[in-house]
Amino acid sequence: MANETRLYGIPVSPGFGIGRVFVYRKNLPVIKRQAVDDTNQEIARFHNALSNARLEIAELRDMIAGRLGRDEAELWTAQLMMLEDQTVIEATADRIRDKGQDAASAFQETIGQVAETIESSSNQYLKERVADIRDISWRVIKHIQSGDPSVLQKLPRNSVVMSHDLSAADTALMSARNIAGFITEVGGKTSHTAIVARSLEIPAVVGIKGALQQPRPGAMIIVDGTRGLVILDPLPQTLESYQHELKEYQKHLSELKRLRKSKPVTLDGRQIELSANIELPEEIPSVRSHGAKGIGLFRTEFLFLTSSQMPGEEQQFNIYKQAAEKLSPDPVIIRTFDLGGDKINGHGFSPEANPFLGWRAIRFCLDRPEIFRAQLRAILRASAFGSVKIMLPMICCLEEITQTKSLLDSIRRELDDKKIAYDPGCQLGVMIETPAAALTSDVLAKEVDFFSIGSNDLTQYTLAVDRVNEKVAKLYDPFNPAVLKLIRQVIDSGHRAGIWVGLCGEMCADPLAVPLLLGLGLDEFSMNAVSVPEIKRMILKLRLDDCQKVAGRVMEARSALEARTALSEFVLNIFPDLALSCSLERS
Ligand code: PEP
Ligand code: MG
Repeated sequence: MANETRLYGIPVSPGFGIGRVFVYRKNLPVIKRQAVDDTNQEIARFHNALSNARLEIAELRDMIAGRLGRDEAELWTAQLMMLEDQTVIEATADRIRDKGQDAASAFQETIGQVAETIESSSNQYLKERVADIRDISWRVIKHIQSGDPSVLQKLPRNSVVMSHDLSAADTALMSARNIAGFITEVGGKTSHTAIVARSLEIPAVVGIKGALQQPRPGAMIIVDGTRGLVILDPLPQTLESYQHELKEYQKHLSELKRLRKSKPVTLDGRQIELSANIELPEEIPSVRSHGAKGIGLFRTEFLFLTSSQMPGEEQQFNIYKQAAEKLSPDPVIIRTFDLGGDKINGHGFSPEANPFLGWRAIRFCLDRPEIFRAQLRAILRASAFGSVKIMLPMICCLEEITQTKSLLDSIRRELDDKKIAYDPGCQLGVMIETPAAALTSDVLAKEVDFFSIGSNDLTQYTLAVDRVNEKVAKLYDPFNPAVLKLIRQVIDSGHRAGIWVGLCGEMCADPLAVPLLLGLGLDEFSMNAVSVPEIKRMILKLRLDDCQKVAGRVMEARSALEARTALSEFVLNIFPDLALSCSLERS
């Protein structure tokens, strides 16, 4: 019997997945024109690819209609019509027949000609369709080349997706039902791909160098998203022990869910707000089912990332209203679009040399007032239906807040004039996720109703470590004393100004961080819903005064390792079963 192969990477989404390898190559190989002998067979291959692409688009359209509404799905209907365009189909078939050319290059050339003609026309509407035409071409060629109709939305059950990289949008489109796990060669723990994997409860390991060197489609594979381990062709005894571990893990999760109704209060009576981060409206039910109190971070940019068009005011209003009504009276904190960085989808964004330092989040919104205004109007209108709050991402200076406030004032006047209802007390908060915002938090605190610390970006920007680059992943550590000092400063500034302070980065769900953040006085913890029960269990067993003492010691630490050591001694003493999650070193 051959040996099993063990590969190690960065654990980004806990749990155990057992399934079969599905190799996913997003980037198409370069298309090289090739001569074919049997042109009839090649034309048949082309028609087959066309019908697979049609099926895929039709499914995508239905899924988008379910998630975002019929209007949004219209675009896919238009794409389907393009795939039925007889001129394009015949021109491609003629090329194959007359020139003895392969289907992929024939279709690419035909589409290229169509795109060129449209680009040179004076019709603006048509010009804007060129990106869609290229997307269609990508889909058809993918099917010609792979001959495999399966894509991420349509995977066989128990697939483990193996890919060089996956975008956040790819992950959001995956169906958690069919996926046992995924592994990628690149990526980091706080990349948005990883965050979505945790939300969808898909075990995942990233940063496995060379994973695709010997792709073995269909091979048996185990993804251990808790330890960051992947086992290809597991031996029978390994498989058995993982099947056992998987059962135990599921039992543990359902035991934790029993805490759903308990309030997160420390043994000495300090009550904490525990809320959930969501990316898509489908996650709304999981907020309550995991025992969270409302939404602490709604990453609204995912509405845009999983779609082909910027969602309009009406569509956004319906989604925000639905969240507000379903969770009322609990709060729903809606973060305005944080597009850019690792969250781009090509529409309207041209590549930048340093996207994390570029046209991202509030910068993009203030430069595109028509988009920003529509979103703010939608949020304000939804505020009439529950407890809605607005939160601005990536703030670096006071002006970004004052400009937004004057925009909000003018929208309120507009709504008043038209007698459209909204909550006049709708709170405005900001994310503190840049060192600039943290260092001036005393000034910013006087302008807003709350702070939420974005530890993912705060760590990235403070330590100058790209959060999605696996090569520097070991340097990315929110327990670095530089980051901890900024977090303490933000909490203190907020409290001095009389506002509440939360934290909604991934650090919140790290068991090591819980006593520290409690001890520093954090008021609200917001994390992926899946982690809520475990963190609630911890809060219920901790004493605030003990946490304050350990936080005092941690703030004296000279390095991340010293901080982690102090915290893990404290945590493991109370929760010995957390040994696995409390690693001293950054994984
Ligand atoms: C953060 O930066 O910590 C955060 C919560 O925002 P995002 O991860 O979406 O950048
Ligand atoms: Mg952020």
